[in-house]
Amino acid sequence: MNAQITLHKGDITTDAEADAIVNAANTSLLGGGGVDGAIHRAAGPELLAECRTLHGCRTGDAKITKGYRLPAAHVIHTVGPIYRDGRHGEPALLASAYRRSIEVAAENGCARVAFPAISAGVYGYPADEAARIAVSTVAKAMAEHPQVIEVRFWLFNEHLYRAFEQALRELHTMS
Ligand code: ADP
Repeated sequence: MNAQITLHKGDITTDAEADAIVNAANTSLLGGGGVDGAIHRAAGPELLAECRTLHGCRTGDAKITKGYRLPAAHVIHTVGPIYRDGRHGEPALLASAYRRSIEVAAENGCARVAFPAISAGVYGYPADEAARIAVSTVAKAMAEHPQVIEVRFWLFNEHLYRAFEQALRELHTMS
Protein backbone atom coordinates (compact mmCIF):
# COMPACT_ATOMS: atom_id res chain seq x y z
CA MET A 1 0.00 0.00 0.00
CA ASN A 2 1.40 3.41 -0.96
CA ALA A 3 -0.75 5.48 1.37
CA GLN A 4 1.24 7.46 3.87
CA ILE A 5 0.69 9.67 6.89
CA THR A 6 3.33 12.34 7.49
CA LEU A 7 3.84 14.81 10.37
CA HIS A 8 4.84 18.46 9.97
CA LYS A 9 5.55 21.29 12.39
CA GLY A 10 4.24 24.80 11.93
CA ASP A 11 1.67 26.66 9.87
CA ILE A 12 -0.66 24.58 7.68
CA THR A 13 -1.35 27.54 5.37
CA THR A 14 2.22 27.29 4.02
CA ASP A 15 1.74 23.73 2.72
CA ALA A 16 2.59 23.82 -0.99
CA GLU A 17 2.36 20.06 -1.57
CA ALA A 18 -1.22 19.46 -0.49
CA ASP A 19 -4.08 19.51 -3.00
CA ALA A 20 -6.43 20.43 -0.16
CA ILE A 21 -5.96 21.76 3.34
CA VAL A 22 -8.56 21.00 5.95
CA ASN A 23 -9.93 23.83 8.08
CA ALA A 24 -11.09 23.21 11.65
CA ALA A 25 -14.07 25.51 11.20
CA ASN A 26 -17.20 26.18 13.25
CA THR A 27 -20.75 25.36 12.14
CA SER A 28 -21.32 28.84 10.66
CA LEU A 29 -18.34 28.47 8.27
CA LEU A 30 -18.06 32.24 8.54
CA GLY A 31 -14.60 32.36 10.07
CA GLY A 32 -13.19 32.21 13.58
CA GLY A 33 -9.92 32.18 15.47
CA GLY A 34 -7.08 29.68 15.52
CA VAL A 35 -6.38 27.80 12.33
CA ASP A 36 -9.67 29.02 10.82
CA GLY A 37 -8.55 32.65 11.13
CA ALA A 38 -5.12 31.82 9.70
CA ILE A 39 -6.63 30.04 6.68
CA HIS A 40 -9.04 32.90 5.91
CA ARG A 41 -6.25 35.47 6.23
CA ALA A 42 -3.97 33.53 3.90
CA ALA A 43 -6.71 32.69 1.35
CA GLY A 44 -8.13 36.21 1.12
CA PRO A 45 -11.70 37.54 1.23
CA GLU A 46 -12.92 35.41 -1.68
CA LEU A 47 -12.86 32.40 0.65
CA LEU A 48 -15.38 33.95 3.04
CA ALA A 49 -17.56 34.94 0.07
CA GLU A 50 -17.70 31.32 -1.11
CA CYS A 51 -18.27 30.05 2.45
CA ARG A 52 -21.35 32.28 2.70
CA THR A 53 -22.93 30.29 -0.14
CA LEU A 54 -22.57 27.00 1.77
CA HIS A 55 -25.04 27.80 4.58
CA GLY A 56 -22.96 26.28 7.35
CA CYS A 57 -21.82 22.76 8.13
CA ARG A 58 -22.91 20.29 10.79
CA THR A 59 -20.52 19.00 13.41
CA GLY A 60 -18.84 15.91 11.98
CA ASP A 61 -19.49 16.89 8.35
CA ALA A 62 -17.25 18.56 5.72
CA LYS A 63 -17.66 20.89 2.71
CA ILE A 64 -15.17 21.96 0.05
CA THR A 65 -14.27 25.35 -1.45
CA LYS A 66 -11.46 26.67 -3.60
CA GLY A 67 -8.19 27.68 -1.96
CA TYR A 68 -7.90 31.14 -3.58
CA ARG A 69 -4.55 32.69 -2.52
CA LEU A 70 -3.40 29.58 -0.65
CA PRO A 71 -0.85 27.32 -2.32
CA ALA A 72 -3.41 24.49 -2.00
CA ALA A 73 -6.14 24.45 -4.67
CA HIS A 74 -8.90 23.53 -2.21
CA VAL A 75 -9.98 24.03 1.39
CA ILE A 76 -12.10 21.34 3.03
CA HIS A 77 -14.02 22.87 5.92
CA THR A 78 -14.94 20.45 8.68
CA VAL A 79 -16.37 20.94 12.15
CA GLY A 80 -15.06 18.96 15.10
CA PRO A 81 -16.91 18.60 18.41
CA ILE A 82 -16.46 20.85 21.42
CA TYR A 83 -14.93 18.58 24.08
CA ARG A 84 -16.87 18.24 27.34
CA ASP A 85 -15.87 14.98 29.04
CA GLY A 86 -15.63 12.48 26.20
CA ARG A 87 -19.01 10.95 27.06
CA HIS A 88 -21.15 13.16 24.89
CA GLY A 89 -20.42 11.59 21.52
CA GLU A 90 -17.16 13.49 21.04
CA PRO A 91 -15.05 10.52 19.80
CA ALA A 92 -17.61 9.57 17.12
CA LEU A 93 -18.02 13.18 16.00
CA LEU A 94 -14.26 13.77 15.82
CA ALA A 95 -13.81 10.55 13.81
CA SER A 96 -16.65 11.63 11.53
CA ALA A 97 -14.97 14.99 10.85
CA TYR A 98 -11.80 13.20 9.67
CA ARG A 99 -13.69 10.53 7.71
CA ARG A 100 -15.96 13.01 5.90
CA SER A 101 -12.96 15.19 5.04
CA ILE A 102 -11.22 12.23 3.38
CA GLU A 103 -14.44 11.31 1.54
CA VAL A 104 -14.82 14.85 0.22
CA ALA A 105 -11.14 14.90 -0.77
CA ALA A 106 -11.52 11.63 -2.68
CA GLU A 107 -14.70 12.83 -4.44
CA ASN A 108 -12.81 15.91 -5.62
CA GLY A 109 -9.62 14.20 -6.75
CA CYS A 110 -7.42 15.54 -3.95
CA ALA A 111 -4.54 13.06 -3.54
CA ARG A 112 -2.62 14.88 -0.81
CA VAL A 113 -4.55 16.35 2.09
CA ALA A 114 -3.23 18.48 4.96
CA PHE A 115 -4.99 18.41 8.35
CA PRO A 116 -4.61 20.43 11.54
CA ALA A 117 -5.35 18.76 14.88
CA ILE A 118 -9.14 19.20 14.70
CA SER A 119 -10.82 20.13 18.01
CA ALA A 120 -7.46 20.18 19.83
CA GLY A 121 -7.33 23.97 20.16
CA VAL A 122 -10.15 26.16 21.45
CA TYR A 123 -12.52 23.15 21.34
CA GLY A 124 -10.44 21.56 24.10
CA TYR A 125 -9.94 17.94 22.97
CA PRO A 126 -7.08 16.32 24.97
CA ALA A 127 -4.06 15.94 22.68
CA ASP A 128 -3.41 12.22 23.17
CA GLU A 129 -7.00 11.17 22.54
CA ALA A 130 -7.39 13.59 19.64
CA ALA A 131 -4.20 12.22 18.05
CA ARG A 132 -5.24 8.58 18.44
CA ILE A 133 -8.64 9.21 16.85
CA ALA A 134 -7.11 11.32 14.06
CA VAL A 135 -4.48 8.78 13.06
CA SER A 136 -6.63 5.64 13.30
CA THR A 137 -9.60 7.20 11.48
CA VAL A 138 -7.47 8.63 8.70
CA ALA A 139 -5.64 5.32 8.16
CA LYS A 140 -8.95 3.48 7.83
CA ALA A 141 -10.49 6.11 5.54
CA MET A 142 -7.41 6.12 3.27
CA ALA A 143 -7.66 2.35 2.90
CA GLU A 144 -11.26 2.85 1.73
CA HIS A 145 -10.36 5.76 -0.56
CA PRO A 146 -7.12 4.92 -2.38
CA GLN A 147 -7.35 8.16 -4.39
CA VAL A 148 -6.00 9.84 -1.25
CA ILE A 149 -2.34 8.84 -1.12
CA GLU A 150 -0.98 11.14 1.56
CA VAL A 151 -2.34 12.77 4.69
CA ARG A 152 -0.11 15.50 6.07
CA PHE A 153 -0.78 16.44 9.71
CA TRP A 154 0.39 19.94 10.67
CA LEU A 155 1.02 20.22 14.40
CA PHE A 156 1.28 23.68 15.82
CA ASN A 157 3.10 22.91 19.05
CA GLU A 158 5.60 20.37 20.37
CA HIS A 159 3.10 18.70 22.70
CA LEU A 160 0.70 17.91 19.84
CA TYR A 161 3.55 16.81 17.59
CA ARG A 162 4.67 14.29 20.20
CA ALA A 163 1.09 13.07 20.71
CA PHE A 164 0.74 12.42 16.97
CA GLU A 165 4.15 10.71 16.82
CA GLN A 166 3.07 8.37 19.60
CA ALA A 167 -0.30 7.67 17.95
CA LEU A 168 1.46 6.80 14.68
CA ARG A 169 3.81 4.44 16.53
CA GLU A 170 0.81 2.70 18.13
CA LEU A 171 -0.88 2.39 14.74
CA HIS A 172 2.20 0.76 13.19
CA THR A 173 2.58 -1.61 16.13
CA MET A 174 -1.02 -2.75 15.73
CA SER A 175 -0.88 -3.29 11.97
P1 ADP B 1 -10.75 23.87 17.21
O1 ADP B 1 -11.79 24.94 17.44
O2 ADP B 1 -11.24 22.77 16.30
O3 ADP B 1 -10.15 23.37 18.49
P2 ADP B 1 -8.44 25.59 16.70
O4 ADP B 1 -8.17 26.41 15.48
O5 ADP B 1 -8.63 26.31 17.98
O6 ADP B 1 -9.65 24.61 16.32
O7 ADP B 1 -7.25 24.59 16.92
C1 ADP B 1 -7.02 23.43 16.16
C2 ADP B 1 -5.52 23.16 16.16
O8 ADP B 1 -4.90 23.95 15.14
C3 ADP B 1 -4.84 23.56 17.46
O9 ADP B 1 -3.92 22.53 17.80
C4 ADP B 1 -4.10 24.84 17.12
O10 ADP B 1 -2.94 25.00 17.89
C5 ADP B 1 -3.76 24.59 15.67
N1 ADP B 1 -3.45 25.75 14.83
C6 ADP B 1 -3.74 27.05 15.00
N2 ADP B 1 -3.28 27.78 13.97
C7 ADP B 1 -2.68 26.89 13.12
C8 ADP B 1 -2.00 26.99 11.86
N3 ADP B 1 -1.84 28.17 11.24
N4 ADP B 1 -1.53 25.85 11.29
C9 ADP B 1 -1.68 24.65 11.89
N5 ADP B 1 -2.32 24.49 13.06
C10 ADP B 1 -2.80 25.60 13.66
